[in-house]
Amino acid sequence: MATTTFTRKSLGLESTEPAVTPPAKGAQTNFAKKPKLGAGKSKKRDIPEGLWTKCPKCETMVFDKELDANLKVCPKCEFHFPISASERIHSLVETCTFEEMDAEMTSVDPLKFVDKTSYPKRVQAHQAATGLKDAVLTGICKMGEHRVALGVMDFNFIAASLGSVVGEKLTRLIERATEKELPVIIISTSGGARMQEGMLSLMQMAKTSAALAYHGQRRLPYLSMLTHPTTAGVMASYASLGDLILAEPGAMIGFAGPRVIKDTTQAELPRDFQTAEFLLDHGLIDAIVPRKEMKQRFIEYLDFLDGRPRPAAPA
Ligand SMILES: [Zn+2]
Repeated sequence: MATTTFTRKSLGLESTEPAVTPPAKGAQTNFAKKPKLGAGKSKKRDIPEGLWTKCPKCETMVFDKELDANLKVCPKCEFHFPISASERIHSLVETCTFEEMDAEMTSVDPLKFVDKTSYPKRVQAHQAATGLKDAVLTGICKMGEHRVALGVMDFNFIAASLGSVVGEKLTRLIERATEKELPVIIISTSGGARMQEGMLSLMQMAKTSAALAYHGQRRLPYLSMLTHPTTAGVMASYASLGDLILAEPGAMIGFAGPRVIKDTTQAELPRDFQTAEFLLDHGLIDAIVPRKEMKQRFIEYLDFLDGRPRPAAPA
């Protein structure tokens, strides 16, 4: 027997007079008599609660499955939600072509660093929470017809800070690409240096940049994609060294935060300061690429940039 489906809608309205006399328990309502509207068969009733996400930009409630199917982009206002490294890779590479490199590389604790917790405990907690060993996944994959060396950072792992593991994995990826004559694509997001690794973290900026310089000498293309947020040491090294520097819509991109810049320069900052759109207008980045177009755009850029004559490898 059908029962009424309106119990949830009464939230916050309990004190108001019902428009019609509520039916006795178990009685059929007019609504229930409508064909194929029997409660229990309604699609809405199959949706478990707590699986909706509120878009921070347009405040629409979006069903999580719909959000996932749309690559975590709000279907109403195109707001780009954060996306994990593995989801990103799935959205970009040809199925089953991603051969991960250095999957087991993890940080050591050279400084015996302790803040609220010890550094090894912090790393372990993030490993358990994210399923990642550190803040970047690297590997060789196929994108369209192109073999590509792909690195994807994940902000969920200690704010995708640039520690020794991130720097070393990216450097090995770039060196492999140079050796195999492959283009490099790095999808960046980062809060900056890995403070717990001190100077060793800063050295990764020079190491990754040097590897890219050798890669560039061979005239191999490097595409840098900046996603929300890409800041500090990552922005000041490999993220800003792309032959093409691309960004997702609305991404916050910069070196120091706006408050620091405002305090230092004592100047009023423009409204869109440090957004992808502002930086496109001012020439720092070459194009804004919506997530749903990203794979196709990468393939088009590689069609254009790859396959040119190259100087022979140095003896
Ligand atoms: Zn939205």
